[in-house]
Amino acid sequence: MTAEVLVVGSANADLVVAADRRPGGGETVLGGDTRVLPGGKGANTAVAAARLGADVALVGAVGDDPHGRLLLDSLRSAGVRTELVRTVDRPTGAAYITVTPDGENSILVSPGANAALRPADIDPAGAKVVAVSMEVPLPTVEHAVTAAAAAGARVVLNLSPVTELAVTTLTTPTTLAGVDLLLVNEHEAALLLGAEDPANIDPAGLLDRGPRSAVVTLGARGALLVTEDGPLEVPAPRVEAVDTTGAGDAFAGALATALATALDTGTEQDHVVELRRAIEWAARVAALSVTRSGAQPSYPTADEVARWSP
Ligand code: ATP
Repeated sequence: MTAEVLVVGSANADLVVAADRRPGGGETVLGGDTRVLPGGKGANTAVAAARLGADVALVGAVGDDPHGRLLLDSLRSAGVRTELVRTVDRPTGAAYITVTPDGENSILVSPGANAALRPADIDPAGAKVVAVSMEVPLPTVEHAVTAAAAAGARVVLNLSPVTELAVTTLTTPTTLAGVDLLLVNEHEAALLLGAEDPANIDPAGLLDRGPRSAVVTLGARGALLVTEDGPLEVPAPRVEAVDTTGAGDAFAGALATALATALDTGTEQDHVVELRRAIEWAARVAALSVTRSGAQPSYPTADEVARWSP
């Protein structure tokens, strides 16, 4: 049985330690207690979409260990279908996160089981929307995009976290041509465009890389929708930010949900109007999530979003 929204991506245990400063090479620094939280871009996106009411399944991999069980519990209690999450003979992926008083996070990711996610694990038949993020092997990302496009699903690719190798691989030949909506932050957009300065990019150039449309997320400033009609600014609701962890994944999950729902109505909406509405809603979802602590625990339901006035 296929889900309407198929999310392909990572599941990680986030191991978070607060410290006065991050250790340099050869140095030991004492920090606070370790908090162990469910995370990873794929799992976060799937949880965000499920909380918003989407019928969603995650294609992922975890280990047979306490972190894997933490992730499966969190996915299931949010309503994510987990029959496509394989348990493999590797430790569950982990992100070692040091939080310092300057608000900067340093993150070391150990992919573990996520590295075992193979192209053959992906069958997009019947899905309306396939949402793909990085942190899983590149051939798996490439296959997810091309197979989903061939099956007629709408493909949302969150190019995060990006590497130069990923940019080269996905643009030669252009896997990105299978992408309906490319989701990048300013840093990722700059790398894709070969620009030196993320603050000074020509967003229209993103479409030359192949996707039908693109969204550049701009943190508290909102997002920029890029379509054949040109760039369009979508401001973010103004909020008192408590914790921005996972805001990009909340945004991605909301976009996937909105696109699947728009298909449900059967109406032939203008493409750009539909995308603008989806992004306005995703910006509300992400803004509400940053007013709460954590990533997955901060993700709202559709009712909460509807009732919320910032
Ligand atoms: P992350 O890696 O932390 O998940 P990101 O770098 O991928 O984030 P951002 O651009 O920081 O993505 O945030 C994604 C979206 O979340 C923004 O486009 C915006 O809509 C919303 N958002 C983020 N921070 C804020 C904020 N302080 N106030 C309101 N909305 C925010």
